[in-house]
Amino acid sequence: MIISQTVKIRVNNKNINHYINQGLDVIYGCVYEMDIKFLPRYSKYKILSKCETCGVEKELSMQKYHQNWERSESYNCKSCNNITYKKSMLKKYGHDNPSNVESSIQKRKETCLEKYGNEYIIASEYSKDKTKKTLDDKFGGHQINIIEIKDRIMKNGRITKIERGFIVPDNELSDWMLYRRIVRKITERNRKYVMENWDGLDYYDGEYIKDNFKFKHTDANFPTLDHKESIIHGFKNNIPPEDIGDVKNLCITKKGINSSKSFLKEDDYINKKNQS
Ligand SMILES: [Zn+2]
Repeated sequence: MIISQTVKIRVNNKNINHYINQGLDVIYGCVYEMDIKFLPRYSKYKILSKCETCGVEKELSMQKYHQNWERSESYNCKSCNNITYKKSMLKKYGHDNPSNVESSIQKRKETCLEKYGNEYIIASEYSKDKTKKTLDDKFGGHQINIIEIKDRIMKNGRITKIERGFIVPDNELSDWMLYRRIVRKITERNRKYVMENWDGLDYYDGEYIKDNFKFKHTDANFPTLDHKESIIHGFKNNIPPEDIGDVKNLCITKKGINSSKSFLKEDDYINKKNQS
């Protein structure tokens, strides 16, 4: 739990919008004794916190505090965390130390390869069949499902690209949709974190665009979340969806750059495909 009630902050061009958006009447350049509930959840401000297991008190950043808290929905000091960590490792992998876990991940890959013909279950024939079966069950037939999916894609104006082989062939469609859906789910889970830890600069051209949220979301200058390695690239190269949706693979860029970039990536993919 957090002991500190307030933190001394100076209002600057990076944080002023954050406080104004919360209805606070702050003035640029002024110093405030700010109630911690108004601080950005993942900010660098130091706060005093107390371990919920042993009661030891420690000073650390808001960011570290919340990352710690989110692991187990409670804040624990390093030594108490070790206990929880070991417990969860033991439960998850049957080992309580990471080097064993490494080997257990390897082992899981091997088992998967042996059982499903691919290190990652998502990319295996088994997974494709299973997806097809699920869709069959859900929509009462693969045919109907494909039409439904096509309708949805048509709305996004993507059907032509698929027909020309720009994205993925139809027989891989459900697999691709599944992969993309998983990546998007992981991405959404990371969105808040990336946004809150963002320095306001466009990842690709370095322009300060934090104030661009004032534009309409359809505007080419509106800040959007982007995958550095695209989802299609991840799909084609059997990269685990966790890696594509990971915080490390996410950045923020203007909508305009984002859309032109995703075309480029897809074109890269086509060129590569045509050469091979
Ligand atoms: Zn403790």
